[in-house]
Amino acid sequence: MGNKKIGAHVSASGGVEFAPINAHEIGANAFALFTKNQRQWVSKPLTEESIRLFKENCEKYGFQPEYILPHDSYLINLGHPEEEGLEKSRAAFLDEMQRCEQLGLKLLNFHPGSNLKKISVEDCLSRIAESINLALAKTKGVTAVIENTAGQGSNLGNEFWQLKYIIDQVEDKSRVGVCLDTCHTFTAGYDFLTDYDKVFDEFDKEVGFNYLRGMHLNDSKKGLGTRVDRHDSIGEGLIGKTFFEKLMKDPRFDNMPLILETPNETKWKEEIAWLRSVE
Ligand SMILES: [Zn+2]
Ligand SMILES: [Zn+2]
Repeated sequence: MGNKKIGAHVSASGGVEFAPINAHEIGANAFALFTKNQRQWVSKPLTEESIRLFKENCEKYGFQPEYILPHDSYLINLGHPEEEGLEKSRAAFLDEMQRCEQLGLKLLNFHPGSNLKKISVEDCLSRIAESINLALAKTKGVTAVIENTAGQGSNLGNEFWQLKYIIDQVEDKSRVGVCLDTCHTFTAGYDFLTDYDKVFDEFDKEVGFNYLRGMHLNDSKKGLGTRVDRHDSIGEGLIGKTFFEKLMKDPRFDNMPLILETPNETKWKEEIAWLRSVE
């Protein structure tokens, strides 16, 4: 086996402790999860029992915290143009960071935010950076991992320079990173099918591979530059298997969580096995 850590965003229904079991069942050596209900602002705190069992199960099935990529709630907008929404988002994000801390996790993946077309892109990116600074100041050991987006609606983070613009304003550079989603990168307009090297060279120049903490491996139902976020199973969308084969052989993506967020979970086991077979 090579150095790729591959998994999927598995269910944590019934409690976070079930996520490592679900990941083990599909042959993963990495996984993603929600540590709370992603569609609610407030969730009950994690119980001592749940935390203990989560750690026990991760150990039992050999999942190291470096390869576990929790995802925050979709409600959070760290660049919210209005005070109330911003405060609510910052409080919820801090809670997410603290949950990761309690679980002994090292990464928290999130979508940067949206300006809702009410403030400039730069102002919104600065707000996001400030939100990250506030959360990092109140936590230890967890890295804020910014995901690139398709740029749907007023969502920011679809262009590489925007990710760097946020990072540049984060005080503790050792605790900020990036997650590239292949579907988002493609629909944001980066044509890695025509020129794989050019896209990742551009990423390296504008952001830097030293900030890359993980990837989301998704095929896409929508075309290049459509700015529409619709994931597809690997090999069934407009990206296709050749690209993923290339990625699996690229050592720049070694030793970081590579997470499937593909729509048909009954295929995850098969998708992981295929990705491993072309490593
Ligand atoms: Zn994603
Ligand atoms: Zn997506």
